[in-house]
Amino acid sequence: MKTRGYAVQTAKSLLEPYDFERRELRFNDVAIEILYSGVCHSDLHQARNDWGWSNYPLVPGHEIVGRVIDVAPQAKRYKVGDYVAVGCMVDSCMVCDQCRKGLEQLCREGNTQTYCGFDRITNEPTKGGYSKHIVVREDFVLRVPQGLDVSKVAPLLCAGITTYSPLRTWNIGPGSRVGVIGLGGLGHMAVKLASALGAVVAVVSRTADKASDAKALGADAFLLSTDSTAMEKAASNFDLIIDTVPVRHDLNPYLPLLDVDGTLVLVGQVGPLDEPSTVPLIVGRRRIAGSPIGGILETQELLDFCARKNVLPDCEMIRMDQINEAWERMERADVRYRFVIDMASLEIPA
Ligand SMILES: [Zn+2]
Ligand SMILES: [Zn+2]
Repeated sequence: MKTRGYAVQTAKSLLEPYDFERRELRFNDVAIEILYSGVCHSDLHQARNDWGWSNYPLVPGHEIVGRVIDVAPQAKRYKVGDYVAVGCMVDSCMVCDQCRKGLEQLCREGNTQTYCGFDRITNEPTKGGYSKHIVVREDFVLRVPQGLDVSKVAPLLCAGITTYSPLRTWNIGPGSRVGVIGLGGLGHMAVKLASALGAVVAVVSRTADKASDAKALGADAFLLSTDSTAMEKAASNFDLIIDTVPVRHDLNPYLPLLDVDGTLVLVGQVGPLDEPSTVPLIVGRRRIAGSPIGGILETQELLDFCARKNVLPDCEMIRMDQINEAWERMERADVRYRFVIDMASLEIPA
């Protein structure tokens, strides 16, 4: 199937229109017309080869919402016309202990990333959601529940599940005390989801001007990390801190905020950090952890939860040809809180 997307050709180039082919349906595949594609900070990292495993031409995008346009004979879960979604992975081994537990994101063989990965059968590079169509194994396709505004669902597929999964892993519920560091795409979802789960939520930020936004998103409190008196007063106040900061930073100011057995979970920065002191870890029996996205079952649970609780990201809709400008603005954190590309704005020439 011929399709069109936007790709970068090298680690230094801008995104440009790019025509390519999607594979013929395999026995368990679904073909999707992409309607909306979320813009994730990792798209930018991958385009610039910040993590060292990018391949080119690179079509980014792993927050995908669309409509089923074709179904293989043996694919039974979806029918033409269904609203569906695809997140950060499109395949895994499906037989290892982690896959059997529904934790495909932790597949022992490594899951297949939606872009910058390699197809498990043909070994061809995978290409993501900044495109008009995608073909995906049905087991990695999610159902968009009725009642959710499809134009806003896309960011749930990465920003949403990346913050929902640790909330579930650490059993956050009514009365839990959750801190969120960084109020960007991930952070704003962490606030909304933790609140919807019944937790008491505080945003921890270096800039005071985020205080009103934090409250508007549902946070109960705002903690200015440069205010040492307030930080001292907040010591031992949290059961879980979700750290969404996407660049190298210093954890030491935040660790004392955790209560005994509390956990600071990293979901933003992939790579080195400034060296944390073990003193607050040892003395207070505190933990530092990391968490990737979530499994397929948990991602579906998230979508259903968001439909039930009416939780949706704050999105700014853009046209496909505005993407380079959007990346620049994302780098300056000038977006509240997630760009979503309206794929109708990208036409395939006849
Ligand atoms: Zn992402
Ligand atoms: Zn596996």
